[in-house]
Amino acid sequence: MAGCYPCVQCKKRCRNNTIQCCNCNRWVHVHCVPMSSSQLKMWSQPLLSFLCRDCCFTDNEYDFSKALERISSALHSDPKDLKMTVSSESLLLETYGVKIPKQTNPSDQTVDEVSRDILKQFHPAILSAVFPAKTVGDGNCMYRAVSRAMTGSESHHVHFRLLTAIEILQNKYYYDPDHRKFVDLVNDNRIVCSPYSESLQDAVSLYAFSSMTHIFALSAALRQPIRSYYPPQLSAEFVSEPHSRKVIGRGVKMSESPTITIMWTQMRSLSHKLSGKFLKYFQNKLKSNLKEKVNKPMASGFVDSPWTNNNSESLNHILKQAINWKSQPLLDLTITLTGLIDTQFKDLKKALVGTGQYRLADTHRHFEVSKSVWVSKTTDERNRHYKKFRNFKATEKTTVTSTDGKMTIVKPKSLGKKLGQRKRKINERTTTIKKGKM
Ligand SMILES: [Zn+2]
Ligand SMILES: [Zn+2]
Repeated sequence: MAGCYPCVQCKKRCRNNTIQCCNCNRWVHVHCVPMSSSQLKMWSQPLLSFLCRDCCFTDNEYDFSKALERISSALHSDPKDLKMTVSSESLLLETYGVKIPKQTNPSDQTVDEVSRDILKQFHPAILSAVFPAKTVGDGNCMYRAVSRAMTGSESHHVHFRLLTAIEILQNKYYYDPDHRKFVDLVNDNRIVCSPYSESLQDAVSLYAFSSMTHIFALSAALRQPIRSYYPPQLSAEFVSEPHSRKVIGRGVKMSESPTITIMWTQMRSLSHKLSGKFLKYFQNKLKSNLKEKVNKPMASGFVDSPWTNNNSESLNHILKQAINWKSQPLLDLTITLTGLIDTQFKDLKKALVGTGQYRLADTHRHFEVSKSVWVSKTTDERNRHYKKFRNFKATEKTTVTSTDGKMTIVKPKSLGKKLGQRKRKINERTTTIKKGKM
């Protein structure tokens, strides 16, 4: 019935050689798109969804955010539908001639002072050849930095994010550590690859941070290597060395030398991403105490009785390692703490499928599910399952009896234990040698 409708583009009547937009259901002449005959043939495949220019452009520019949204809303649909959505997005880019921006010589860049200071400290030689350019730190920073390094402007960051998402979706083997044919491009066991679903979610969500997986995917999408530089001791979550490397994505030539270098730095604007509960706890309980009992006395040069807090004692040593036993600005410390705690919660979730750092206690064993069951659950179902597990209060025996049966005492509260955690034998305990008189 195409004959009854005007073409989206030329407004003339649509008779022959037309294609329908799957969003607004209007028709458009094939030559008005314009579309090659091979592209038309591709679009004729069932289940692919063509979109007219009106539906995928905003202000005459291809709208990459909308494309990401379309993929994002298809993430939890049937794998076949998701595959078709991604193929459609890829074909839309081709049909509308959306190309990877050309490599230009970036000019007019602002030096990022923080990064320059870090480089001065750890890698001064590099400063004679290059300088760190400032990028907006809003979670899109990896894409922004690559866009800036390539074109001198950050404006292509959403485009690059979309390309990364499509790459991860179309080449699952390379990005899913649980896939039986997994090709480990990162190939460094010091870098923990996120589960596929997480990498994917982070790729399609604007403002979600990127990991090594995403840099590899972007390298593949741009068909060129990316040099990643991670200064030592920046953050608790990552180790410097394995993150400082030449990233050679799928299909990129080993021999090619990178023209894009990105540097990881800590971002102050990260604070708005701090997880709500912890931030509240920090603001209401910790902050005033830290100020009153640590900052003030330190400033006056004399700490009378050091104030400590036992609430995160189990994380104490991890935190100390994370900050390298050095004092940090309050905000940086908060960011580090948040990162650590988030990791702990993620580990807790992993215990539900029997992986990660923790194992479920006997009282909670019935919450464990197999990986295949977990994968088949929707995000909502997973969250519900996790919530039930978190809220579950086991009824425990309240007393313990000694092995010889002579003594019964009230059972001490059982605490979470990590794998392999045990009590030290007496003779293993550290002793402090008393200082002799000088
Ligand atoms: Zn037309
Ligand atoms: Zn349309």
